[in-house]
Amino acid sequence: MPRYERFVEELLGFLLARLDEPGFARLVAHEPKRMMAAYFEGAGGRAETRTASFTGCIKCSQIPPTTLFRSHGHIDAPAWPCMPVRELTLSFAEDPDYRDEWRPKFTLVASGQLLHQPDQDQLS
Ligand SMILES: [Zn+2]
Repeated sequence: MPRYERFVEELLGFLLARLDEPGFARLVAHEPKRMMAAYFEGAGGRAETRTASFTGCIKCSQIPPTTLFRSHGHIDAPAWPCMPVRELTLSFAEDPDYRDEWRPKFTLVASGQLLHQPDQDQLS
């Protein structure tokens, strides 16, 4: 059994085969980790606390232990690969095995939505 989802395993494999030492150190600082996020779910007059598990980044996705998200859709911790890891992949963007879905603009949060990117909102 692989430790992570296939998408995570494949990107890890891609990077580990190509990174130089500083790049590797950066990856280690942003290692993937299975995480849990508690959220509130209310439906049909019943409300309960549930837990979602996801692969996050040990640095970017830290969730304070008592956090209870308002709903599954509100879980806004970045999913792995986080933005810094995706930026790291950009040095290999010319590689035939590089995948567009690794680009920073496709960074997701644990709920599965695209990470909110402030610079895009500031365009007026
Ligand atoms: Zn990270």
